[in-house]
Amino acid sequence: MELSPVEAVNVYFAEAARIIDLDPDVQEVLGSSYREVAVQVPVRLDNGDLTVVRGFRVQHNGARGPYKGGVRFHPSADLGEVRALAALMTWKTALLEVPFGGAKGGVEVDPTTMSQGEIQRLTRRYTRSIHHVLGVYRDIPAPDVNTNAQVMAWMMDEYSLLHGYSPAIVTGKPLAFGGAPGRESATGRGAIYVLDAVCTHLGLELAQQRVAIQGFGQVGSWAARELVERGATVVAVSDVHGGVVRPEGLDIEALAAATRAGGSVVDAVGKDGVEAVGNPELLELDVDVLIPAALGPVITDANAERIRAKIVVEGANYPTTPGGDKLLADRGVVVVPDILANAGGVTGSYFEWTQNIQQFTWKEERFLTELADRLAKAYRDTQACADEHHISLRTAAFALGVQRVADAVVMRGYV
Ligand code: NAD
Repeated sequence: MELSPVEAVNVYFAEAARIIDLDPDVQEVLGSSYREVAVQVPVRLDNGDLTVVRGFRVQHNGARGPYKGGVRFHPSADLGEVRALAALMTWKTALLEVPFGGAKGGVEVDPTTMSQGEIQRLTRRYTRSIHHVLGVYRDIPAPDVNTNAQVMAWMMDEYSLLHGYSPAIVTGKPLAFGGAPGRESATGRGAIYVLDAVCTHLGLELAQQRVAIQGFGQVGSWAARELVERGATVVAVSDVHGGVVRPEGLDIEALAAATRAGGSVVDAVGKDGVEAVGNPELLELDVDVLIPAALGPVITDANAERIRAKIVVEGANYPTTPGGDKLLADRGVVVVPDILANAGGVTGSYFEWTQNIQQFTWKEERFLTELADRLAKAYRDTQACADEHHISLRTAAFALGVQRVADAVVMRGYV
């Protein structure tokens, strides 16, 4: 039977709890979310019709600091999915030692069929409906699937109408006001910083790796650019419309320019030896590294045995089910778990938030250097824990995160 996203994330949590011998009372507290807000979001469409969708903000645990997590606009973003993603944020912020708790937001809607005006009205209404649980020191949203700097600008503006000018209320903002140079690329580049460290550990050279990436949005496109800058070969990428493959390597800058202009990567099919590949087939290509960077779960017990990559870097959140994870582990595939691989995003958001509070902007170079340092430490800690206990990187990453949150919960007297 297929597990729900919450059940799946709790399989990873329970395994970590066993490794660190977590107190059962603390395990019970950490096994569910602290606060869950579900709201009705009515949106007037351009044609005069009204559509009514559901919005959520789930705050999983705030023992280590204000809640932090992205907002996703997607038809699959129901309460169960948002709940699971909120818990992942708690373990991720703790693993990276950034002083935040974990949260996630979602609206069950397909914004790809909506105009910018409709998306703005949706964003403002959603923000107004949940503003009472947000706050610069309470809960700070950020972009996720189908939300971006523009959506963050509207969220920040709506919140500021109610509470006064508050740039630190969201991260991932435009550079025009309060955005941090480096934040947009932080998740994708960060995934490659971690991959580089994993390659070094395994005695491999990043520049020799042939890579396939599923999803060519904020995470996938920046991971691809960082790979190319470091001499690796990106042989396949995809978006919601399908994928493209070119064994000698794709022209990532051209694809990024095309998708920024509103096109799809599949528009490149037929040009310069570029061929089409389906999203499921892309996962099974004969590459060294696979980076799922779209939605989850895409690696399951139905396809994990056919994955040929030796390293999987989870750019997306929860791209691998526990069943898929086990099959990959049995075959010796190294899986860099989401809470480590894509943690550049929340780490970069932390830098943006601190800069907003101080009303001071770092240069991009400083941002990326600090990002690389923090990710390198998180990877070192995770690898050391994995080696000590003879466990996977995922279980080690969860064990470190869960232990830090448990310590804070106990110290603060929650249990
Ligand atoms: P995005 O909206 O910018 O891009 C998503 C990409 O995935 C697009 O190219 C889209 O076309 C593609 N896609 C959507 N549905 C697909 C499908 N069914 N099959 C194949 N491709 C599909 O989103 P993003 O911010 O890049 O986020 C991608 C993943 O990374 C998500 O799982 C998100 O939770 C995770 N993540 C994002 C950040 C961040 O900073 N943006 C941080 C951590 C984790």
